[in-house]
Amino acid sequence: MNRPRPTFAIATSINNVVASFQVSGEFDARTVPQFEAEVLKCTESTPDIDLAVCLSAADIIDSSALGALVRLDTGQRKANQSLTLHAPRPFQVDLLEITGLTQILTVSSTCEHCR
Ligand SMILES: [Zn+2]
Repeated sequence: MNRPRPTFAIATSINNVVASFQVSGEFDARTVPQFEAEVLKCTESTPDIDLAVCLSAADIIDSSALGALVRLDTGQRKANQSLTLHAPRPFQVDLLEITGLTQILTVSSTCEHCR
């Protein structure tokens, strides 16, 4: 049976210090490959840049998505760059706390560009 295509979008904005990826909709196993391809495209063309991932418009975040964020964070640290998650919605903060990821990832509960 075909499941409907997931609702998912990424809006990328790059300035000279940070590349931001605003994800919206279902950020899960089905959409992580799209996210990673988009990030890779950006980091290949603009290496050595700090990254931000905005989760404010993400309605679903599953373990695959969290895994992708941890991988991205690891890669950024190796490159001496940062990754900041913008997770302003209470369920997003809860999810990151329950999974212990606030110990690893840099999380901002505010989001300057997607309020
Ligand atoms: Zn943001």
